[in-house]
Amino acid sequence: MSGLGKGVTTSSIAKLLQLADQKVSCVKIDPYLNYDAGTMNPVAHGEVFVTEDGGECDMDIGNYERFLNQNILKSHNITTAQVYSSVIEAERKGEYLGACVQIIPHVTDEIKNRIRKIAEDEKLDFLIVECGGTVGDIESLPFLEALRQMRVEEGPQGVIFVHVTLAPSLDVVGEQKTKPTQHSVQELRRIGIQPDFLAVRCTLPLEEKTKKKIAMFTNVTPKDVLSCHDAKSIFKVPQMLYDQGIMDSIFTKFGKIGMVNTSAKWDQWNRIVESMVNHEDKKTRIAMVGKYVTLADSYVSVNHALRHAGAKIGRSIDIDWIDSESIEDYGILSEYDGILVPGGFGTRGSEGIIWTANFAREKNIPYLGICFGFQLAAIAFGRNVLGLDDANSTEIKADAMNPVVDLLPEQKSVSDLGGSLRLGANEILIKDNTNAHKIYRKAIISKRHRHRYEINKKYIPEFEKNGLIFSAESDGGKRMEMLEIPSHKFYLGVQFHPEFNSRPGFPEEVFEAFVKASAEK
Ligand code: GLN
Repeated sequence: MSGLGKGVTTSSIAKLLQLADQKVSCVKIDPYLNYDAGTMNPVAHGEVFVTEDGGECDMDIGNYERFLNQNILKSHNITTAQVYSSVIEAERKGEYLGACVQIIPHVTDEIKNRIRKIAEDEKLDFLIVECGGTVGDIESLPFLEALRQMRVEEGPQGVIFVHVTLAPSLDVVGEQKTKPTQHSVQELRRIGIQPDFLAVRCTLPLEEKTKKKIAMFTNVTPKDVLSCHDAKSIFKVPQMLYDQGIMDSIFTKFGKIGMVNTSAKWDQWNRIVESMVNHEDKKTRIAMVGKYVTLADSYVSVNHALRHAGAKIGRSIDIDWIDSESIEDYGILSEYDGILVPGGFGTRGSEGIIWTANFAREKNIPYLGICFGFQLAAIAFGRNVLGLDDANSTEIKADAMNPVVDLLPEQKSVSDLGGSLRLGANEILIKDNTNAHKIYRKAIISKRHRHRYEINKKYIPEFEKNGLIFSAESDGGKRMEMLEIPSHKFYLGVQFHPEFNSRPGFPEEVFEAFVKASAEK
């Protein structure tokens, strides 16, 4: 089922292989009919993760990047829509030479080609493919069939299967139940896949007798039934799997015995993991104000980035999500060490964010605005300092008298919503003698974007005369990328998304500076 931890299991196995000096990467299969995650509501599906090459991907891609500390391309998020589009396009071009085009073999071939191409192009030793969905779902059947075929084609030393299942206990001391695992393995075997490993999610460590029982019913050896119990941090899961002998077992299955030899890399990883879990006594409180706050996963990369920054300075971060639509008393924001407004879209909740940005400015509370949070901070300043009545974004009010934020020129003729934002990494120039320059300590950075609107350059002179400066820009000065108020304790807005570049042990610079300023409050 969803939320079980397939992404963490995938990332952890990939991490262990990376720690064993293997060149690895991960692929996420999403069997839905959206072409990509870009058009999906983050409250229902979690954050849209943006890759360097402008993919709007499932948030698991973010997990892979963070665990492996390596960039992943958008081709690593395969959806049903992409596969079918390619097959239909090839059929229209006549590439199937008169054949009747079918799910098997044409769709399954397309799936296998995509997976093999990634492994070959990137010269990988191992590719871990995560198939989303639940066994038995109609949607995922063609993918599981393709994977079954791959095992036959590559042989048992070329492909192995890990099945993530659940062993629930009905109360804390109660017995761990094995039936859900028994049944999902049966379902998997019915479609021709015998798992090599079972990664069994449970609250407490899986008992030996439970492992044996599961093993007996599922045809998996007991040592390959792995307990994936609750951990203090997801970054502890690689060690948990390692301690159960998964690496020996994986290398044996692939016929590569005796390959684990990586103490230096392990030391660095362990230091990072320890830094992420040990600061419960020193808390920094951050208010995250936005509209998609009902699901913690809708800003998962922002949450992680805050925690990476906290770990670096020895702080644990307490995040409270505050719904900008229903906030009545802005005074509660004074209780926080810092205020963060993440990305967002549309009118709903925007007035609350504009108020929040103004409140942080007036009360000298550290403020970080990302994308929408950057744009609305400029609007708040326009209204409250420059006295620009009706300052707004044309996204929120199409006929605003003072469109401080307006459509990117190239967006004016765009009609499709999917895949049409300004997406992916772009170069940004930072001005000398600014906070931005102090934070990044360089003049050129490259950051990922996902937006359709931008600062209207017409208003810049007035902003700068009144104490808000735009400290970074891109595209030859066409677009504003960062704003700051030098007289404020910490007031920064970024048009780009720094959260996608933050990694455990290597926090993104803006987050580090923001958390530091908040911790000093
Ligand atoms: N809605 C804004 C835009 O399209 C901001 C987007 C975002 O925050 N990712 O420009």
